This record gives sequence, structure tokens and C-alpha cells, in this order.
Amino acid sequence: MTDKEILEKLLDLHKIDSQIVKCEDEISIFKEKIKNLEDKINEGRRIFNEKKQKLDIFRKKRAELDIEIKEKESEIKQKDSQISMIKTNEAYQALQLEIKTIKDDIKKLEDEILKIMEDEENTAKWISEQENLLKNEERQFANEIEELKRKISQEEEIIKKEMEKRIEAKKNIDRNWVEIYERIRRGKRLAMAAIEVNEEGEGVCSGCRFSIRPQAIIEVKKRVKIHTCDNCARIWYIEEVNDTMKV
Ligand SMILES: [Zn+2]
Repeated sequence: MTDKEILEKLLDLHKIDSQIVKCEDEISIFKEKIKNLEDKINEGRRIFNEKKQKLDIFRKKRAELDIEIKEKESEIKQKDSQISMIKTNEAYQALQLEIKTIKDDIKKLEDEILKIMEDEENTAKWISEQENLLKNEERQFANEIEELKRKISQEEEIIKKEMEKRIEAKKNIDRNWVEIYERIRRGKRLAMAAIEVNEEGEGVCSGCRFSIRPQAIIEVKKRVKIHTCDNCARIWYIEEVNDTMKV
């Protein structure tokens, strides 16, 4: 097998692998998008549940304050009933002061309840407004996730087919070169790199930007000799730009 034949067969393999890498990259992007959407859903739920919990806390607190007021009211009643039994003016005034203090406490508790009721109302309003919005948003995100999962399956299907193709493609290549190719690919995802040639005829390895001797460029272009990059080890190629080129 000539170097030209080997290089061309390796290039066929490289095209399959490029397609696989492209699919894998797409899948990573889709998965990242799914993760972001799931995070958004979870964050929306977290905030919503937090508000619901707050509402529960407000209600519980209000109930507690109600009980406290009732207790204080019965305390006042008890003290009121003691008034008739009081003998001295001093004791009477002391009792009146006690009752007044309790009444002031009740007033403070009532103010607190009013404040809580306001918070409660605002929170309840927020919850009822957000509930539908959140549901719609979740539905939309779920649809997007489903669509992304469908795209992932499509890419996976392509990868599966390309994997079958690559088994066939490998069969016809010189074993040593297949081993070299696979070794480079394991480390770098793609084993081959195009040589980029500028107008002055200077070339660089597209894999690592390493500059390439003119002699090597000519040999790679004519496909008379297989060259690997001294820097990144990838196998170099230059695409043939004519009709006979395989796509
Ligand atoms: Zn290189």
C-alpha cells in the first residue's frame, strides 16, 4: 500500500471521526441546555415553595397571636372581677395600672396582626399570580427539554451509523497506521489536522498552529509521504480541491 493510498484511507476514517466529534459536541451543547432549563425549573419551584412556606408561617404566627390576645383578654376579665373586692385606693390604682398594661400589650399584638395580615395578603396575591405563570413556564421548558432530547437521540443515531462505518473503514487500512491513528485520536479526539497554507505558501498545522517546512507541505499536498506534526503528533493532510475528491 502506498503512502498516498494509506493517507486517503486515513482521511476517509478522519471524515467519519470528524462527524462523530461534531455530533458529540452537539450533544454536549444540548445536554448543557437541558441542564440550564432544569435549573430554571427548580429555581422557579424553589422560590414558589419558599413563598408558600412563608404564607404558612404568617398564618401560624397570626393564630398564635390570636391565642395570646385571648389569654390577655381573659386575664383582664379576671382582674375586672377582682375590682369589687378591693379595699384600698392604692390597690385599686395598682390593679387599674395592671389592666392598662395588659390592654397596651393587646394593642401591640393587634398591630402586629394587622402587619402580618398585610404581608399575608401580598404573599397570597403573589402566589396566585405566579402559580399559572410558573405552570406555563414549566410546560414551555418541558417542551424545550423534550425537543432537545429528541435532537440528542438524532445525534446518537448518527454516531451509531458512523461507528459502523468506521469499523468498515478501518478494515482496509494498514494496521500500523491504524494503531498510530487511534493512539493520537484517543489523546486529541481527532488524529488528523489539515495544513493551512497562506498566500506566501507558508503552512501551519491547524491542530496546534505549529509552522511547517515547505518540503513537508509539498509532500503532503502531493500525498507522496505521510507526515505527522512534530508538536501535536497529528497526521497532516491537505484537502484536494477538485471534482475527484470524496466528500
Ligand atoms: Zn500540530
